[in-house]
Amino acid sequence: VLLGNVAVGKTSILNRYVDNKYSKDYHCNVGVEFKVKSVSVNQSTIADLKIWDTCGDEKYRAITKQYYRDAQGIILVYDLTQRETYEKLNDWLKMIKETVTENPVIILVGNKLDTGDQRKVTTAEGQIMANRYELEYLEVSAKTGSNVFLIFEKLASELVTRELQKDKDEMDNHLRSKLVNMDVGEGTKKGCC
Ligand code: GDP
Repeated sequence: VLLGNVAVGKTSILNRYVDNKYSKDYHCNVGVEFKVKSVSVNQSTIADLKIWDTCGDEKYRAITKQYYRDAQGIILVYDLTQRETYEKLNDWLKMIKETVTENPVIILVGNKLDTGDQRKVTTAEGQIMANRYELEYLEVSAKTGSNVFLIFEKLASELVTRELQKDKDEMDNHLRSKLVNMDVGEGTKKGCC
């Protein structure tokens, strides 16, 4: 799920990633649009990403929450040229923490890297925010496409790593419980004969 204030460039990032398109037009999605794209991870695994685009407008917050409550991954976007969108990040992260049911992978993204001297937030400040919440941090431009693919590659890679770890943990637990049962079986045999 893409989250962040209105007009930070969430739809533009999604359109750049999925359709390799960019438009100057602006419209707010009421939290019901999604796109799907397959991404290859470590040249072997294919992950199908179902990416939800949301509107950052306060009046749609309740709807938006339904879409990120069970999200496995969150791309939290702010606009490098609008300082207030950076200052709102603490609120977003608080809301996310209060809402999510699982522990999603969260990537912090500063968008509009192409704007040069219109920039109002430094890379160091973005990184400080990311470090505070232990998030990955990327600066991108939906307009030029710079680093946009990297966001989704990092996200997919982390999600696949987590899934593989989960499978491994389940397998370990299964084997462990089998061994315990075997121990009990052996013990019973020794005890009774
Ligand atoms: P959303 O509300 O977060 O989905 O924002 P949009 O994707 O609709 O973008 C809001 C406005 O910012 C639009 O006019 C976009 O053309 C513009 N925009 C989005 N990404 C970039 C970018 O990387 N660079 C620049 N210069 N403008 C951008």
